[in-house]
Amino acid sequence: MPEGPEVECTRLSLKKFESMKVSKLELTQLSQKYNKYKGKQGFFEEFNGKILTEIERRGKFLIWHFNFPKVILNHLGMSGHWINLKSKKIPSNITHPKIIISFEDEEETTIFEDIRNFGQFRIYGKYQEVLDYMPIRKLGPDGLKIPFPKNEFYKNLKQNRYENKEIGRVLLDQSLIAGVGNIYKSESLALAKIDPKRLVKKLNDNEIERLGKSISFTLQKAVKSMGSTIQTYKTSLGEEASGQSWHKVYAKAGMKCDTCGSEILRIVQDKRSTFYCENCQK
Ligand SMILES: [Zn+2]
Repeated sequence: MPEGPEVECTRLSLKKFESMKVSKLELTQLSQKYNKYKGKQGFFEEFNGKILTEIERRGKFLIWHFNFPKVILNHLGMSGHWINLKSKKIPSNITHPKIIISFEDEEETTIFEDIRNFGQFRIYGKYQEVLDYMPIRKLGPDGLKIPFPKNEFYKNLKQNRYENKEIGRVLLDQSLIAGVGNIYKSESLALAKIDPKRLVKKLNDNEIERLGKSISFTLQKAVKSMGSTIQTYKTSLGEEASGQSWHKVYAKAGMKCDTCGSEILRIVQDKRSTFYCENCQK
């Protein structure tokens, strides 16, 4: 599943459409799921002729703003991605196109392909409705923010509800820090040299500070290497992301730790895999 950095890369790749006029926003025959949003909140046709003013990222959500009050909330889900084309013709390798947006400028087109159909593309009457939408309202500070919001992270982590939980579980909570998914959870803990099984209340202030720095470093590095959720994620330019090459532990169970040579372990926390080096992470 795309994590904060992959969604940020998607935003950056879509940024070139900002200030362009939509000539047509259309659903394909495969997009029954998205059809249900058009009746309730308005019509996708209303976006034709509007100018896309900004695409904002909040955690793993993209919010599309136009030059009228309606906004679109977009989540990539498990496998959704945007593919930018210089043509209105859909290439045959795009097998599950769901939404096609063409712009007045030349042949600029972007297509939302969503093979597993977990993506979202919903119309809201106004921005405030999106901000009131619970998964958005609950989002913690953005882990990609520069400088890293270390005070908020510290304060959030000190909430009673986390104290008896393992740090490897709570890092996925988007209300603690937004944008960390399963890959960067393992990678941040490896970089901070913290055992994912440690209880939050046992972490001292130095360790929390180190973890914050590690999260920030890991997420920024992931953006730079164009995201790393490899199996289904591609950048919208169709390039394979190159992020996995620098992973220390993620998906490396049974392989040797680069630092100490011990075997990297895999455990399950809240039904999600966590990878770590028992020798390096204390
Ligand atoms: Zn090690």
